[in-house]
Amino acid sequence: STFADLGLDPRLLLALEKRQYEKPTTVQAACIPAALEGKDIVARARTGSGKTLAYLLPALHKILAVPKDKQRAGWQALIFVPTRELCEQVREEAEAVATRCKADIRVSSLAVDSAAVQRDIFLHIGQIVVSTPGQVAQALKEGRLRAASFQPDERMRRPGLSVLVLDEADLMLSMPGYEDDLRAIAPLIPRSCQCMLMSATSSEEVERLQKLVLHNPTTLNL
Ligand code: AMP
Repeated sequence: STFADLGLDPRLLLALEKRQYEKPTTVQAACIPAALEGKDIVARARTGSGKTLAYLLPALHKILAVPKDKQRAGWQALIFVPTRELCEQVREEAEAVATRCKADIRVSSLAVDSAAVQRDIFLHIGQIVVSTPGQVAQALKEGRLRAASFQPDERMRRPGLSVLVLDEADLMLSMPGYEDDLRAIAPLIPRSCQCMLMSATSSEEVERLQKLVLHNPTTLNL
């Protein structure tokens, strides 16, 4: 199949062309149509399979569909990854595609040390935020990030969080504290938010997390 067959926004197709991605990987061909239907997704996908774009493209597609006057208000996609290094990698990939859509979609990573930059991110500059669970949990605990931030708010013209990604979920859960962090964050996720969980392996912990965050997910064993 081609990226065009998957039903993605034409601006994304153009961006992919500019990035010289010619056709979707197996993981992308399976994930993207299911995600565009609005389903929660569990994908058994490992690094190197193209899993990052498999969740980034549907997230960007959704953000591109939001009217312009609501584009600047608040986080729309939150992507959890296990490490700060991966934060930076995913942010770069998201930004590379997002900037080529010419829709002024901002991408931020919480793996920054500057307090001023962190403050900007909490003040909702950036519709796609990449973070470890620890960084969001701590910001909530310290009151730098408000619990209401993920909820849609008509008055603030805030669309609310519409995509949550748990990337490398197995690795994330093997790190001390992250399961507790995710348990603290889960109740703040709007019911309308679509969730995608990527994991190379399955385990009791991963299944517990699935039950906690996802609703009636489609499981893709790739
Ligand atoms: P990932 O599994 O997401 O870590 O991706 C592994 C590598 O594959 C990254 O360097 C991507 O830039 C690249 N990649 C992802 N999707 C495609 C595609 N459809 N065609 C060619 N390369 C891709």
